[in-house]
Amino acid sequence: MPVTLARRRLDCAAYEVALSETAAGAPMSESVDAHVRQCLRCQAELVSYRRLLRGLRSLADQPAVLPERFEPQLVSSLHLGPPPPANRVAPVALATVGGLAAVASVAALVVRYRRIVRLAG
Ligand SMILES: [Zn+2]
Repeated sequence: MPVTLARRRLDCAAYEVALSETAAGAPMSESVDAHVRQCLRCQAELVSYRRLLRGLRSLADQPAVLPERFEPQLVSSLHLGPPPPANRVAPVALATVGGLAAVASVAALVVRYRRIVRLAG
């Protein structure tokens, strides 16, 4: 890899957090603005962050509609015991959903970390 390309990837990695904050509405510093103006990679990254946030915000506006008896079916499919009554969310089901959310968060962090390492390497 040419030295200038490797150097540029290191520069871009340094701006990644600032780009995500900018996409979320934070003001852009002069140094970030100067870099983004001349870097197509970071321009694309900023567009991706904005698109991702727009998608997440649109999902937040929509109510979650679960199929009838979703929770008891989830619990029984995980072999955690008999399904709870249909109108009550079992603590085990809440813990399971929380655990799945934690796993998804860790997976997202791993993907992001790999991306940063790939940019730096
Ligand atoms: Zn860049």
